Amino acid sequence: MTSPETTDIVHWADGAALSGSPDGWADVTNPATGRVTGRVALASEADAAQVIAAAKKASAAWGTTSLARRTQVMFAFRELLNSRKDELAAIITAEHGKVHSDAIGEISRGLEVVEFACGISHLLKGGHSEEASTGVDVHSKRVPLGVVGIISPFNFPAMVPMWFFPIAIAAGNTVVLKPSEKDPSAANWLAALWTEAGLPDGVFNVLHGDKAAVDALLTSPDVQSISFVGSTPIAEYVYETASRHGKRVQALGGAKNHMVVLPDADLDLAADSAVNAGYGSAGERCMAISVLVAVDPIGDELVARIADRTRTLLIGDGGRSATGEGKEADMGPLVTKAHRDKVSSFIDSGEAAGAKVVVDGRDVKARGGEEGFWLGPTLFDDVTPDMDIYREEIFGPVLSVVRAKSYEEAVALVNANEYGNGTAVFTNDGGAARRFEADVTVGMIGVNVPVPVPVAYYSFGGWKRSLFGDTHAHGTEGVHFFTRGKVVTTRWIDPANRPEGGLELGFPRND
Ligand code: NAD
Repeated sequence: MTSPETTDIVHWADGAALSGSPDGWADVTNPATGRVTGRVALASEADAAQVIAAAKKASAAWGTTSLARRTQVMFAFRELLNSRKDELAAIITAEHGKVHSDAIGEISRGLEVVEFACGISHLLKGGHSEEASTGVDVHSKRVPLGVVGIISPFNFPAMVPMWFFPIAIAAGNTVVLKPSEKDPSAANWLAALWTEAGLPDGVFNVLHGDKAAVDALLTSPDVQSISFVGSTPIAEYVYETASRHGKRVQALGGAKNHMVVLPDADLDLAADSAVNAGYGSAGERCMAISVLVAVDPIGDELVARIADRTRTLLIGDGGRSATGEGKEADMGPLVTKAHRDKVSSFIDSGEAAGAKVVVDGRDVKARGGEEGFWLGPTLFDDVTPDMDIYREEIFGPVLSVVRAKSYEEAVALVNANEYGNGTAVFTNDGGAARRFEADVTVGMIGVNVPVPVPVAYYSFGGWKRSLFGDTHAHGTEGVHFFTRGKVVTTRWIDPANRPEGGLELGFPRND
């Protein structure tokens, strides 16, 4: 139900809100209360054209703005964001549902990329070779692409856009961000912050909407690249469509991350890690642990320790601690009612398939609105690879324990999976960890670290059906993605040492 207090969330272009002429509107809800708090514009073709045009208009001037000035804006943005992150976290909690401390965590990881991009002058330095051939020098440089498109998922409304836009902007590009329609307000808050930081109008723009908005970005001749994060089927569609339209594309998809616990592991550390990584953000993380592979004989003991911890978790409205109402909940609601129901039906299907329900989240008692989209943490044991709950990305607070007889069997499970985003091994044996690191076909690996999200100066990305394209996010790969290379070969005539010149139609040799 909409109420008079709901807000309209519209596009942002040229440094200001843009009402446009949307094709329709989508409700935005607070998942902890189930109440509609706003409605977001679903871009029409005309809206998309207007927002892309704003980015295009600003592109030439921003691309030639001095590195010194661009860096100053980056530092100003970093300071503002750091000092006001509580405000943004409250917006994230109200639309996504994750608890306040988790929202602060996502902003902090996004801030790391802003800080990395503050060093853009160093990152954009080219090479120079003097006297590469007689009297000839060569230098290389990296130049901005122009207008770049970023399409982001619901689960990290601030961090995922920040994997890309700080580097894109610092490198001299202008941005059109298409955030998820489920939690769109963070994008507008960030856009207003950029203006406050002194970013010229039109450099950072927001286009709201669904498939039509995405398609407009994928097909526009004025958009040079697409950075997408979301589910695998859409990532694949985005990769194919945008590539066909001549763009460079990085499209990050879904995941099913396995945590392998070897018999010599510290079981308390492993149990804490499984709970944190399985149920943090209600399991709605692409780096969540959704499968735990317990290598014989520690399975029974490990499941008991995980179950004990899981039963202590407080499920509730993630915003309450911010208003001083006692201990913060450990885990919030799921993002929408439809998603909650889908995850719940996976639990039904796992039970029907014969997996053992050790902790049942369907019985949840949550501290929050009765209409909230609640589902408690669920622990399955004796899961086998043929079950739906093993094969599908559930994207909810459901942890499946699979038993393996050996290290080899555990690694074979990791490598047979269609996804290759993240994985972790828990062991006290350095040799086994080193072997695991070499054996697995996965992009991001943790050793006694359950959520191995790389720091900003390394790059984030999976293998197999977790990434379409060849460039990972942020780090030097991000800088490479958002720039094009040029190599310049130069000869200046020195009057004191003139080259002989003359006609020579053969292919130029260097000597
Ligand atoms: P989603 O694929 O439904 O949506 C992602 C974006 O695509 C949104 O902006 C959405 O509006 C748009 N979109 C949705 N349907 C579309 C369509 N038919 N055509 C064009 N665009 C469309 O993903 P989600 O539910 O928002 O996010 C969860 C998914 O994202 C999970 O699969 C998760 O693993 C994945 N994810 C991956 C990473 C990673 O780094 N690999 C990070 C975060 C989330």
